[in-house]
Amino acid sequence: MKKPRVFVAEFKHETNCFSPNKAGMKEYRERLLKESDEIIPYFIGTRTEISGMIEASEDEGFEIVPIIAASATPSGLTTKEVFDFVKGKIVQAINNTKDVDSILLALHGAMVCEGIPDAEGELIKAIRSVAGPGMPIVVTLDLHGNVTETMVKNANVFFPYENYPHTDGFERGYEAGKCIARMIRREISPVMKLRHIPIIAQTIETTSEPHVGLLKKVHKWEENPKVINVVVMHGFPLSDIPDVTMSVMAITDGDSKLAEDIVDDMAKTIWEKRDRFQKKYLSPEEAVREAMEFPSGPVIIADAADNPGGGGTGDSTFILRALIKAGAKNVGLAFIPDPESVHQAIKAGIGSKVKLSLGGKLGPKEVTGGPLEIVATVKTIADGQFFNKGPMMKGVLNNIGRMVVLDADGIEIVVAERRIQPYDAEIFRRVGIEPTGKKIIVLKSAIHYKASFGPMAKKILDVDTPAYHSFNFWSLNFKNIARPVYPLDKDFEYVI
Ligand SMILES: [Zn+2]
Repeated sequence: MKKPRVFVAEFKHETNCFSPNKAGMKEYRERLLKESDEIIPYFIGTRTEISGMIEASEDEGFEIVPIIAASATPSGLTTKEVFDFVKGKIVQAINNTKDVDSILLALHGAMVCEGIPDAEGELIKAIRSVAGPGMPIVVTLDLHGNVTETMVKNANVFFPYENYPHTDGFERGYEAGKCIARMIRREISPVMKLRHIPIIAQTIETTSEPHVGLLKKVHKWEENPKVINVVVMHGFPLSDIPDVTMSVMAITDGDSKLAEDIVDDMAKTIWEKRDRFQKKYLSPEEAVREAMEFPSGPVIIADAADNPGGGGTGDSTFILRALIKAGAKNVGLAFIPDPESVHQAIKAGIGSKVKLSLGGKLGPKEVTGGPLEIVATVKTIADGQFFNKGPMMKGVLNNIGRMVVLDADGIEIVVAERRIQPYDAEIFRRVGIEPTGKKIIVLKSAIHYKASFGPMAKKILDVDTPAYHSFNFWSLNFKNIARPVYPLDKDFEYVI
């Protein structure tokens, strides 16, 4: 018998509408832009969604037809050019390829494109309109996706990450692959319900409360054999579109009433816990003081607001200034994207002292702190290619251009040519720094670093600054989110 054939495509971007820095073709090419035969060799053996889909295809006996894989580091809007290019490739493949039974998509869920607030909704709608109503479309998402009714109406099943840090990409891709095989064999007829809860949430890992309790409840519901998937979406408020709140989805095998009951029950529980999705942040000065006073190390200072994984420029200098001012020693900082400084350091050579205007160039001074005038010794020069070895996206190859380590009187600053979130300890080990030997580690990351760095941390300090990934909702000028919303508005009732 002929094997069923399944299209696979990836298109990911988490869009932070407070950043003016757009993601165009250049930004996608720098991170990931691969087509057809290039895709499987890139993903196979990694802990990612597409790798999970590949494994499911082997177990279930279907053939994968890869179309495109595109992703860019989170930033401001994805350009219309990129959106049309990727959408065009997928639509064209569906129109031109015969004998394809279904479609697996690996999306993020919080992409905003120039002129298209609900980019995933528009994409899935366009795919549905050429694929026809009968073709199964199963989609993986990031739990920071802002799910819309358009997305739900045009896809059959969503498998978003359950874990934050996102260590379960492979598992969700595998489930999506298993699910599509069952749909092709007509064993299941999924129905999906979505409920938004008017809460915007700060970044809290799923290994802490209130998420541990919520996931227990999710798993309890999933014991019912009629339930295909239950999901708590954290949402991404910084996308600033109407649907950025927390939401729940329930997907059952043909039982709308059950799906409705589940989303109602989950929404009620989440609403009751609404004051638990917020947390306290320190100023750079407070965090540096606490870290220096702490008797052992490493102490991790998380520069959450400048996290490039959520649209931060990554080159803000607020914490670095506080470290220098306080005279901190034995510090490792990862990392500042600054191609100009990398070039100057390489030109000067290892062992040289260089005078640099470091960082603070990718946004206005109020957001980045502006460039820091600094004299430092060039300690290491390396290419910025390294594989993730920690639990998140294990096996994925990163390429952040050339890298250098600058030693500024006991503060070792990693500087690279491109932006990504430093969530894997290889960012230090690639350039000869052993993070476990540091008193203080500064990371431009909000939560993801916990998967790789968490086990070595003696203490963790979360910092807020005016950078683009600040979750100080009260200081942000939201224009499009639906109101009322907790915690910006407190005096209102949410009726389920
Ligand atoms: Zn996420």
